[in-house]
Amino acid sequence: MIYRPLPGTTLTVSSIGLGAAPLGGEYGTIEPATATATVRTALDAGVTLIDVSPYYGRTAAETVLGDALRGVDRDSYVLATKVGRYDVAEFDFSADRVVRSVEESLRRLGTDHIDLIQCHDIEFGDLDQVVDETLPALRGLEEKGLVRAVGITGYPLPALVSVAGRAPVDTVLSYCHYTVQNRTLAPQLPFFAERDIGVLNASPLGMGLLTDAGPPDWHPASAELRAACAEAAAFCRREGAELARLALQFALALPGVASTIVGMADPETVARNLAWTAEPPDTELLAAVEEILGDQRDAGWPVGRPEN
Ligand code: NAD
Repeated sequence: MIYRPLPGTTLTVSSIGLGAAPLGGEYGTIEPATATATVRTALDAGVTLIDVSPYYGRTAAETVLGDALRGVDRDSYVLATKVGRYDVAEFDFSADRVVRSVEESLRRLGTDHIDLIQCHDIEFGDLDQVVDETLPALRGLEEKGLVRAVGITGYPLPALVSVAGRAPVDTVLSYCHYTVQNRTLAPQLPFFAERDIGVLNASPLGMGLLTDAGPPDWHPASAELRAACAEAAAFCRREGAELARLALQFALALPGVASTIVGMADPETVARNLAWTAEPPDTELLAAVEEILGDQRDAGWPVGRPEN
């Protein structure tokens, strides 16, 4: 495992982070024992960054994660969670709510501090409120020692760039924007580096698009994008390869990112993914997949308020 300082913070993170959205059942039902085994397998293999949110499983992921982490040395992992998003269409970035949200997360996670607190999916909020009210409220919690660093997350890169350019944020978590299919995060990396902002690249498998099982029903990708990714997955299978393997190895090779956060829901997948990280991507397979993706390369989906 490679470990890197997370720019903008005093934290050090593993190059692969455990994404806890699947622990909240976002990708299908998961038994608590399997969730615990997933977390423990990741920690035993050297993963030190875990990313969760009250939104995942509508608080279930934090509760399950808190149970899984009971008895684990608190200094052995970096815990990142979020504020502001509570349901599919329920957002509240007010100072009162985010302070209360952190208190609730601390209880569910069974800890006295959050290493990285992030405003979750800022594109659904009023960006002025995020800058003027939410981030200052979270800085107040940092002064009290309840959180160690403050960041933002979201899908549209312009919203992340806008807030990071206007407010002192420590980290930015971008998702589905540096994958085999969509690479639009890469040109933005110098902007964040110049400001000493740590970048976390989440969803290297495009939230399931780049797997044999395909994306869940709630996935916002168009039918064309789903079909192109399914075709790429089928091609890889015919070649005796696996699209998820290529996708993970491809994302991990991006310089300028502190950690790549992948969602994992069982210990076998954790072991398989970590074994893959030792190898570089197969460049011939990559070229063939790029051709299959064709005009769906860099395609995305609309999300958030229209003005963001
Ligand atoms: P992902 O791209 O990491 O894909 C996860 C899906 O792929 C899950 O169904 C998982 O079981 C499956 N998977 C993992 N390894 C596999 C393998 N080897 N073969 C086949 N399938 C495999 O998507 P994600 O989990 O949504 O994103 C990663 C994490 O990043 C999240 O869990 C979350 O912590 C974070 N994230 C944050 C935001 C945000 O803050 N707005 C958005 C997206 C993701």
